[in-house]
Amino acid sequence: MARKSRDELVFVPLGGVGEIGMNMGAYGFGPEHARKWIVIDCGVTFGGPHQPGIELIMADPTFLEENADDVLALILTHSHEDHYGAVLDLWPGFDRPVYATAFTAAMLAAKRASDAIVENVAITLMRPGKPFTVGPFTIAAINVAHSIPESNALLITTPVGRVVHTGDWKLDPTPVGGAPTDVERLAAIGAEEGPLALICDSTNALKEGVSPSETEVAATLEAMIAAAPYRIAVTTFASNVGRVISVARAAQKAGRQVVMSGRAMHRISGIARELGMMEGIAPFLDQDAFRTLPRDKVVLLCTGSQGEPRASIARIARGEHPVIDLNAGDRVIFSSWAIPGNEREVIDIQNMFIDRGIDIITRDDGLVHVTGHPRRGELKRLYDLLKPQVLVPVHGEPVHLQAHAALGRDHGIPNVIAARNGDMVRLFPEPMNHPGEVRVGELYLDGNVLCTPDESGVKGRRRLSFGGHVVVSLCVSNNGQVMAGPDIVVEGLPEVEDDDDSLGAVIKRTVFGTLKSIPPKRRSDPDLVNAALNKSIRGEVNAYWGRKPNVTVFVHRV
Ligand SMILES: [Zn+2]
Ligand SMILES: [Zn+2]
Repeated sequence: MARKSRDELVFVPLGGVGEIGMNMGAYGFGPEHARKWIVIDCGVTFGGPHQPGIELIMADPTFLEENADDVLALILTHSHEDHYGAVLDLWPGFDRPVYATAFTAAMLAAKRASDAIVENVAITLMRPGKPFTVGPFTIAAINVAHSIPESNALLITTPVGRVVHTGDWKLDPTPVGGAPTDVERLAAIGAEEGPLALICDSTNALKEGVSPSETEVAATLEAMIAAAPYRIAVTTFASNVGRVISVARAAQKAGRQVVMSGRAMHRISGIARELGMMEGIAPFLDQDAFRTLPRDKVVLLCTGSQGEPRASIARIARGEHPVIDLNAGDRVIFSSWAIPGNEREVIDIQNMFIDRGIDIITRDDGLVHVTGHPRRGELKRLYDLLKPQVLVPVHGEPVHLQAHAALGRDHGIPNVIAARNGDMVRLFPEPMNHPGEVRVGELYLDGNVLCTPDESGVKGRRRLSFGGHVVVSLCVSNNGQVMAGPDIVVEGLPEVEDDDDSLGAVIKRTVFGTLKSIPPKRRSDPDLVNAALNKSIRGEVNAYWGRKPNVTVFVHRV
């Protein structure tokens, strides 16, 4: 009984642990049946080719809904989509405050405006150096370098122990457009008394060494832009404000003006400028200025580094952009890397440029991009600074989590806990994992409808995309006469021209043949006719095409 009533600090990952994307985790404090909860991050993953029609995937918040009365707040570490992309969809139901920095709050407001969503969550501003209290938790944001402004680690203090939840970070001593990771603060936390757990980014746990600095990228871009004979275009993540600043500074030094193309780029740069992050950077020109600038006086900054087909760089590559065109001898720098799953689209764009005599520059040609996540050398440095008793690797696929866990163990962290989404990890006292304790899963945003994968139409859509659809409709009388139809609709099956024996003809023949083969008396039984047509169409199409179509038959008795 004593155990059940003692205070514990627990961590429950609901998304992002065992996968990259849709990060969401909850910390609970109190005795087992009376805990208070705070939630850290509420992100999305983008749907892939296996989820046709699904743009966004988010973590299933059922566990939080079951404890809704005791969920006190959501705290956002930063405004990458995998950390904050689901806030406007999942959080309104909780009616609890969202803590975010000014930049993240502005990003959220801009997203709401562009999606025409009414104000549906209440934001409370937070900033490093200003701790705040939520129920039994005291929370302090700590500035960390990453690849977007205002990324934060969180120190969460409770009566039984403390946690540093790193969010996404790296140890860049010379970032661009923001302060470096607050190493002094981290060292101070490590020096303070009291048990400490580290919940830490695993993205680059397989990579040795230390990630290069954003300043090194800036130097590379500066040299490349200075050396370009004609136009130079740079595509990067719109949210990487530091990179945008580096490009702008390099352009300024080379006596070139920056033309910006792409809505996301304008939106985010606008937010950064409003918040004073762009001091000394000349205003960016809109794409209409592109035509009037001499070829050697322009740097084009544009969206689409992930191969998104409607983004600026893809349209330019296809020669379909209404305003911007590049010519042979111009150069395009891909100041980015292709997130797994996007490689093909990015290579297709690069190929289109090459075929038009436009030079492309990628990570293979120089340090035009760096990661925003810590490599092994940086992880070890953080362990040394914080000296945690407990490590829980998060933000990674199993392969990253495992490498991170092994690194922590090798480095002497006493309790390394391998957790997955849905586990209930007790951090203090007596660290321990209880695997698979809470319901987790995915929700799909299917158009405007938020639903489980089963509820979504994805399974059917996949089936249709593979097998097409045949619809047959007819009316039979009581004595089995065909009174009307059959009407046949064929959708998504191959139809070879000039083939007398086409699939359409085969289906028609099969329908008539099958009807004929059923004795009139039995033809008055709609279920029997339905089953017979279904079977024969699937069989005959399969014999011709090698695939079974989806068949829908309507038999009406009149
Ligand atoms: Zn992330
Ligand atoms: Zn991030």
